[in-house]
Amino acid sequence: MLGQEVPNRAAVGPGAGREPSAAVCPCGGTDVHDVAIHAGRTVRRDCARCGRFLAFVAWYGRIEN
Ligand SMILES: [Zn+2]
Repeated sequence: MLGQEVPNRAAVGPGAGREPSAAVCPCGGTDVHDVAIHAGRTVRRDCARCGRFLAFVAWYGRIEN
């Protein structure tokens, strides 16, 4: 297991809020799944529906979006 789940899409940048109907992934999923890695300094965002990698929300403490 790599990293740990982040409970809720916590305060990890301005794009982290809930957007009820906008698909975030080609699978049509509308929810994301953030996973903290690198001791929490990097946050990887995956599709909550299919698990596809979408983006890095933070990279070693730098917020990318
Ligand atoms: Zn998906």
